[in-house]
Amino acid sequence: MLQEPKALSIQETPNAIRWLRSGDRRLKPTISVIGLGYVGLCTAACFASSGFRVYGVDIDRNKIGSLTKGHSPIYEPQLELHLRKARKRRLFFPTLDLDSAVNNSAVTFVSVGTPSLKDGTIDLNYVKRSSTAVGIALARKSGWHLVVIRSTVTPTTCDSLVKPEIEASSGKKCGRSWGLCMNPEFLKEGSAIHDTLDPDRVVIGEFDRRSGEALARLYCKFLRGKVTIRRMSLVNAELVKYANNAFLAMKVSFANMVANLCEELPSADVQVVTDAIGLDKRIGSAFLRAGLGYGGSCFPKDTKAFITFAKKLDTSLLLTRATAEINRKQPLRAITLGEKLIGNLSGKRVSVLGLAFKPNTNDMREAVSIRIIRELLRRGASVVTYDPRAVGEARKIFAKSITYAESAIDCVRESDLCIIVTEWQNFKALKPRDFAKLMRQPAVVDGRRLFDAYKFSGIRFKAVGLGPASR
Ligand code: NAD
Repeated sequence: MLQEPKALSIQETPNAIRWLRSGDRRLKPTISVIGLGYVGLCTAACFASSGFRVYGVDIDRNKIGSLTKGHSPIYEPQLELHLRKARKRRLFFPTLDLDSAVNNSAVTFVSVGTPSLKDGTIDLNYVKRSSTAVGIALARKSGWHLVVIRSTVTPTTCDSLVKPEIEASSGKKCGRSWGLCMNPEFLKEGSAIHDTLDPDRVVIGEFDRRSGEALARLYCKFLRGKVTIRRMSLVNAELVKYANNAFLAMKVSFANMVANLCEELPSADVQVVTDAIGLDKRIGSAFLRAGLGYGGSCFPKDTKAFITFAKKLDTSLLLTRATAEINRKQPLRAITLGEKLIGNLSGKRVSVLGLAFKPNTNDMREAVSIRIIRELLRRGASVVTYDPRAVGEARKIFAKSITYAESAIDCVRESDLCIIVTEWQNFKALKPRDFAKLMRQPAVVDGRRLFDAYKFSGIRFKAVGLGPASR
């Protein structure tokens, strides 16, 4: 078991409880965060660097080991900086010991994973197990404690799973000895720290008034009052998260639907079209970008879970189903466009630039690069890849079946086709003349509209959502 620093004393708890009750601005409650993935670690790091004492709990020994040594197990811009700041102030304590973390804190955030099961529903086992463990810890704690679910969970989970689990293992009633909130997270990987410190809004689903009040006060303190808070029931907060992601995913698929039409129309350009649509204040430009589809740990999993959840209630989420279907097909546009440029891909050397599901992260969960590479291999192409951050993750998936280049230039060298899969800004350093000089037969598919297509008129070039040049 890891040693807890002396500075972290159980004496903090009564103060914290007083603060939660009174809203006293001078007191900061100690916090525990269970599950140190993208969500939990960013939450923990930001609270700690803002002056809160934070216990970060995980079951993964390697993760706790590297955090204890001061290394972040994930790449996220500014995360190391906040972890360093927290460490310097002795405010962040990674640990495997959930029981002491809960007992030494006043508020527990639960941010464990909720991955997809084969049928599209979510696996609530991590939420269930951590709820039981929190309950066991609460059994020996005196004083009121606030439990906050940050994991994305399908509607009614807090009421029908979290609450009964904690009540059963603690022997204490929710609303009396402890409070419960559902506080969905909306951060975007790649700008997770910024989103945590400056969220568009904080959604608080509350079991009772006291729980909601305590969490609202905590956020006011953490974000120094600069925050829009919406308080609601637990089930509404659970729904907000799914509806929010279904809507954003729909915007992406909508842009891709228009892109596919543009490709059939001489001189049409989806970027020109979506840029103009996005200026309509009723629509907005965010997420209205055509490409090879969305990936990552949230949109694919959350849309699937939303659809299957609704199906159980005999409700068909037609729009979300269409969103998911468009997205299922979209990565393969890269192959279609590539074949239009160089014909049959069998025996060809294809360079794939970008592996992470988006720039500024090393996360490859449900990355579209995975589908594209598998399809290229299936068609007999040899694949060479490069990503500034995600090569380690890619090796776990593809092992020796593909080649890993040391740089974008090395990746492109001697290839027959290059596909831009992730829009890392530093790929922009490659100019049309570089492709012309380095590649065996220069042909580029811009799957993310990274380049100015009009500058590539000298070489074979196709981009998502760009119609053929008019004669
Ligand atoms: P993750 O898989 O990266 O991390 C989850 C962590 O929880 C892992 O480190 C795991 O070891 C740990 N864990 C599991 N069971 C535990 C237990 N009993 N005790 C302690 N630790 C435990 O997940 P993530 O990407 O951080 O997502 C967490 C939740 O937040 C999910 O429900 C996800 O849908 C949601 N979410 C994620 C994002 C995102 O961009 N990643 C954004 C918004 C919401």
